[in-house]
Amino acid sequence: MTKKRNDLEHHPKSAWEVYSSNTHQQAMHSLAQRYMKFISQCKTEWETVAEAEKMLKAAGFNDDYASGMVVRSFKGKTLLAVRRGRRPLAEGIRLIAAHGDTPRIDFKQHPLYEDAAVAQAKTHYYGGIRKHQWFSIPLALHGHVVKESGETVSLVLGEHENEPVFAIADLLPHLAQKQVVQKLSEAFQAEKMNVILGHQPLDAQGEEEEEENKNRVKAHVLKLLNDRFAIKEEDLYSAEIHAVPAGPARYVGLDNSMIGGYGQDDRSCVFLSLEALIEQAKTGETPEYTQCLIIWDKEEIGSEGATGAKSRFFEYCVEDMLAHWEPATRLSQVMLASKAISADVHGAFDPDYQDLHEKLNSAFLGSGPTFTKFTGSRGKYEANDAHPAYIGWLRRILNQAGVPWQMAELGKVDLGGGGTVAMYLANYGMDVIDCGPPVLAMHSPFELTSVADIYATYQAFKVFLETPDLR
Ligand code: MN
Ligand code: MN
Repeated sequence: MTKKRNDLEHHPKSAWEVYSSNTHQQAMHSLAQRYMKFISQCKTEWETVAEAEKMLKAAGFNDDYASGMVVRSFKGKTLLAVRRGRRPLAEGIRLIAAHGDTPRIDFKQHPLYEDAAVAQAKTHYYGGIRKHQWFSIPLALHGHVVKESGETVSLVLGEHENEPVFAIADLLPHLAQKQVVQKLSEAFQAEKMNVILGHQPLDAQGEEEEEENKNRVKAHVLKLLNDRFAIKEEDLYSAEIHAVPAGPARYVGLDNSMIGGYGQDDRSCVFLSLEALIEQAKTGETPEYTQCLIIWDKEEIGSEGATGAKSRFFEYCVEDMLAHWEPATRLSQVMLASKAISADVHGAFDPDYQDLHEKLNSAFLGSGPTFTKFTGSRGKYEANDAHPAYIGWLRRILNQAGVPWQMAELGKVDLGGGGTVAMYLANYGMDVIDCGPPVLAMHSPFELTSVADIYATYQAFKVFLETPDLR
């Protein structure tokens, strides 16, 4: 007997339909609210790692390998959490890797200056931003300042109603006649992205000397920074100060169906993998396979440095697991047997820019987490390319659990593309694929996700971590 046409064709399911029951709807919005709180509060890798560590410790993770539930962070910017499974490490771990850094505007090391009655900060942007999106929006400052004494000052300013915000002023249309016909890449210049910090001059007491009248606005800003945070200009050399979009994430749409907020690439995956891992830790049951979560830094600038995916931190952590739990097993054995999800968001099919996508292979809002078999661009250069056997296994466990998912690549061939941390895990020989919720207006100060996709992605991460192997 031949199969019905509908049995042979495949269309991704709607996460809204799969999770339409009242129970799921309630759980979906409760998760969405916790998620919005998380991304409203965590706007830098520092804050993300600190909050993740707090959540994990509250759930019983600690620094004692004998407990089988370990969390460790490095330089305050990368974090690994692990829950020991029943099976030996030699049979592989289940790893979810996400990144805690996001595109933003960083202060230069010598940022402060005054010109034309305004005190400003020079900046150097971080990651792939579209410069024009950052002009004339309220910005908050999030920073980490280390004084000569070694004391650290964590600084957040501009997130509460009673605090001032900051801004990069855009050009008025009346004077933009030349700019509007320029190429976008030339019209908005990085060296004009200076953050306005103040305008009122410091009272120059006495004013005997001309010298004291210079830079009085900058002097005022320095005084206020000193009053509030006890820092001085030289302290900024050993500081990282980030200008990020001010204010909380919130629901978007009459139906509260979407979440709008900064940094959903990739704090959605950070938060959802934390929730999935912690939820299972709370059951107290030992998992079949060792469950591991890593939050990396510097993904947005090529995974470089001591805290990025190209660093040895993850490897060192696995070596320590082996030393404590399974000294006779070699590192290569663990890596070769492991399964990983490079948990990262995907650019959603944009209703206004349909011509840049290829519809059959695009990620649609509401169709659940998106798998990307291969990343890279222009002939798959610099791609991780997940193995069909691994994708088959993932399909099996997700379909069995009834979790909706979709498969896509980013944009039309030769138009789109991009890389993630997947390739650095693939180097170890482990199975790895990119998976995360689709995002509209990705890398913008106000990214959009679907509440249903956030929920479905959480379900997918849970299934990935907990499903006993069927190989
Ligand atoms: Mn990302
Ligand atoms: Mn990104």
